[in-house]
Amino acid sequence: MNRTPPLLPGATIGVLGGGQLGRMMALAARRMGYRICVLDRDARCPTGQFADDVVVGTLDDLESARTVAERSAVVTLDTEHVPAEVLEAIAPICPVRPGPSVLATIQDRAVQKRFLDAQGLPQARWAPVGSPEELAAAVAAIGRPSILKARRAGYDGKGQVRLEPGADPRAAWHSIGDVPAVLEALVPFAREVSVILARAMDGEVRVYPLAENEHRRHILHTTRAPAPMPDERRRRAEEIARKIATALDHVGVMAVEMFELPGGELLVNEIAPRTHNSGHYTYGACATTQFEQHVRAVCGLPLGDARAFTGAVMVNLIGDLWANGEPPWQHVLAHPEARLHLYGKLTPAPGRKMGHVVLLDDDTDRALRTAEELVAKLAT
Ligand code: AMP
Repeated sequence: MNRTPPLLPGATIGVLGGGQLGRMMALAARRMGYRICVLDRDARCPTGQFADDVVVGTLDDLESARTVAERSAVVTLDTEHVPAEVLEAIAPICPVRPGPSVLATIQDRAVQKRFLDAQGLPQARWAPVGSPEELAAAVAAIGRPSILKARRAGYDGKGQVRLEPGADPRAAWHSIGDVPAVLEALVPFAREVSVILARAMDGEVRVYPLAENEHRRHILHTTRAPAPMPDERRRRAEEIARKIATALDHVGVMAVEMFELPGGELLVNEIAPRTHNSGHYTYGACATTQFEQHVRAVCGLPLGDARAFTGAVMVNLIGDLWANGEPPWQHVLAHPEARLHLYGKLTPAPGRKMGHVVLLDDDTDRALRTAEELVAKLAT
């Protein structure tokens, strides 16, 4: 049983990484009266714009992380790419939530997959790849088409390559940089879904309505919540995610991305031990946003109500929309059910996540259509 007293408003929350997730958490935290100290290499990063204090440094810079820990009552993360060793090193200075061991399990795809296997949880067939010989063995075992993924530091499809039948495995390994990898069977999924949940220090778990995700060019395009799904299958998805969070002794928000096969079977794709792009709909649709929920969890407070008051669709705004300058926002603002979120990133780039729109509508089919119309208008 957790007996650590909660950190109440007034306390400083340290955030390693200053991206949009940290920014939206900072907004929630500051509304509640907490202070924010962020580590990023750019003082004007999305989170820095809403922080009380910015420490300038890279995520693998131990001295900078130490400075954040010394100024904070708890340290949390905007990204899972902070080296677990850095978290390990600052843990004696101030509590780190989620803990270093969660990150050590998540950061390395092979370790993550072994963890899932050990928990008896379903995932695509896979094999570790550390050398050209191992790759040949993995291709023989897993077959093609398959996907070769670097073990570390991959997101949004980076560090990944598809191996088509007849493709040269060595060339594929070269293309991801000859780094340790895993080979994964290509899953003929019908749909991608994610479970967003929060786990508190006392082990309580609250689950948000299931999210249905569509990716384009490896980047999340839209999320619809609640995802239409038969109750029993939805409960199974929730149970998988709950089991993962509990087995990891996670504290904070967590997203578990899953593939749904045409027959209804669910396979875990990826675990993100933080707030998540597919949970942005909670800001507007739910009683407690994923960002407030994360603050509550890492501060040792009771979790808030995860109930949704409405259906919602989120559409990401990618840097490509800035090709002809600032997009014409009046098209979004003309919709009373639309909420515009921009991340304050100073340089748009193709593929870069610049913001998103949440459409609050119980008719999520209609909201998905509106999302496409909006993207088309913003692109012109
Ligand atoms: P990841 O970075 O592993 O989440 O992969 C990004 C996206 O690539 C996923 O959301 C899927 O759309 C696709 N993808 C990744 N792994 C697989 C797989 N084993 N089978 C089919 N599609 C995949």
